[in-house]
Amino acid sequence: MYRIVKRSDVSDTVKLIEVEAPLIAGSAKSGQFVVLRLKEGGERIPLTIADKDKNKGTVTIVFQVVGKSTMQLADFKVGEELKDLLGPLGKATDFAGAKNIVCVAGGVGIAEIYPEVKELHEEGKKVTTIIGARNKSLLFFEKELKAVSDAMHVTTDDGSYGRKGFVSDVLKELLEKDKSIDLVVAVGPVIMMKVVSEFTKNYKVRTIVSLNPIMLDATGMCGACRVTVGGKTLFGCVDGPSFDGHQVDFGELMKRLNQFKDEEKNSAEIYKLKCKECR
Ligand SMILES: Cc1cc2nc3c(=O)[nH]c(=O)nc-3n(C[C@H](O)[C@H](O)[C@H](O)COP(=O)(O)OP(=O)(O)OC[C@H]3O[C@@H](n4cnc5c(N)ncnc54)[C@H](O)[C@@H]3O)c2cc1C
Repeated sequence: MYRIVKRSDVSDTVKLIEVEAPLIAGSAKSGQFVVLRLKEGGERIPLTIADKDKNKGTVTIVFQVVGKSTMQLADFKVGEELKDLLGPLGKATDFAGAKNIVCVAGGVGIAEIYPEVKELHEEGKKVTTIIGARNKSLLFFEKELKAVSDAMHVTTDDGSYGRKGFVSDVLKELLEKDKSIDLVVAVGPVIMMKVVSEFTKNYKVRTIVSLNPIMLDATGMCGACRVTVGGKTLFGCVDGPSFDGHQVDFGELMKRLNQFKDEEKNSAEIYKLKCKECR
């Protein structure tokens, strides 16, 4: 049903799969995601649609191996099928007339920001992209992003590639130099999105962040992915995942993301030790 037609290692911990899903490929917009299950009774995993090919009827997903379900997904091979793939879910990112946009991404957010940069580029907007990672081995999609950006900057924390430092260092310089920047889009680790949002607030530049709260049904019913934005409780799945970064309660989001740490660690350990073959 949802056959994997391509699989590659983007880095040691980041994997890419291309999956047959013609209906999703035909209607997905940037910022939207899918929820997949690997097998009957399996966990529901929300993952961003990193790319789509309407002609081939496929969607591309790029994921970081962080726990049991993503370890299992990384073990899938070309030709195998996923049990379910539900989507496109969530609201498309609303760029609302912005003309000069800086897109900032870190970690697996580099893949998640790709469809947004591509869409802005296709609409003829000016897009500057900044990507960053801890070191060179964790960077990817530089060539792909460069092809759809007017300017591109790369940073690594340790200076092993590009400029040494953080994505926010480059963003600061751009905001100082170019007063016509009217939107910043940030996707990546929560701490990075928090820092970028605090920063752009001083420059009064609208900022969109893509949140990744723990999500279960992804239809707005269970409430697991609730986030506080502008003092209101909203749901990541149906109201987001993109929100105004200046209004998000990042402290609460970070706490909620950590609430199942012990259970997650245990189930990853059990999968690694005993269950390699049980898929
Ligand atoms: C809208 C959305 C889009 C996402 N897009 C991507 C993407 O494109 N690429 C990518 O690598 N990751 C993405 N994520 C995060 C991804 O869903 C989790 O990494 C994955 O579910 C982890 O499952 P696990 O069993 O391997 O890890 P676990 O051991 O279960 O958890 C490891 C960590 O992953 C997060 N997590 C666990 N379960 C969920 C869940 N049901 N929903 C959200 N986060 C969870 C938590 O922070 C947790 O601490 C996205 C999350 C959301 C909400």
